[in-house]
Amino acid sequence: MINRKVGIMGGSFNPIHQGHLVVANEVLNIYNFDEIIFVPAGIPPHKNGLKTNPWDRYIMTQIATVSNDRFTVSDIEVKRTGKSYTLETLMRLQEMYPDTEFYFITGTDAIIDIPNWHEPEKLLSLCKFIAVSRPGIDKDIIEKKIKEIKDTLNGHIELMQVPMLQISSTDIRERIKKGVSAKYLLPETVEQYIIKNNLYR
Ligand code: ATP
Ligand code: MG
Repeated sequence: MINRKVGIMGGSFNPIHQGHLVVANEVLNIYNFDEIIFVPAGIPPHKNGLKTNPWDRYIMTQIATVSNDRFTVSDIEVKRTGKSYTLETLMRLQEMYPDTEFYFITGTDAIIDIPNWHEPEKLLSLCKFIAVSRPGIDKDIIEKKIKEIKDTLNGHIELMQVPMLQISSTDIRERIKKGVSAKYLLPETVEQYIIKNNLYR
């Protein structure tokens, strides 16, 4: 019997930033989830040459989420050898928690890329997806793409507006490399972890 509702936030979290945290909190409140599980990717299939150690990304995600008791972090993908497929992760989580209804959360940039993911039709059949607004892509284009995905791959995708933050891990990594401040774009403790461990230099 289903008695819990949980959101899954997948990502490389390289590093985790305020955009991710705002999204998770908005979705948690609107859907009244019991929990949001952040799942840092091990070796993301679409990001060749991800240089940051998966465990550094996992630790930064832990640090960023300590103050919220409904945010948890799973090591399911960082522990896995070989590529991380969301499909496998979802199947594993459903097996581990049979009493839970899962929702997979993505930004709009990620949802329109779903057809390129591993076995997209099967993936979409496993749970409902929530696509949250992210700056950069026109709303009409998003709606058209989501309709296409629903028509061709039979997915259940709900579009949700959240306060838009033009923050990306790519921009943060570039700032740190150049020595430009990234203050307030990510939790201060995560920034301290990056400096202490000399990441992105
Ligand atoms: P990168 O620049 O390295 O790709 P990113 O900022 O896109 O990093 P990811 O770890 O790739 O972060 O994103 C994980 C998930 O969070 C994706 O579904 C992505 O769409 C979503 N996301 C990331 N940043 C935002 C944001 N600012 N607003 C809304 N969604 C976001
Ligand atoms: Mg990204």
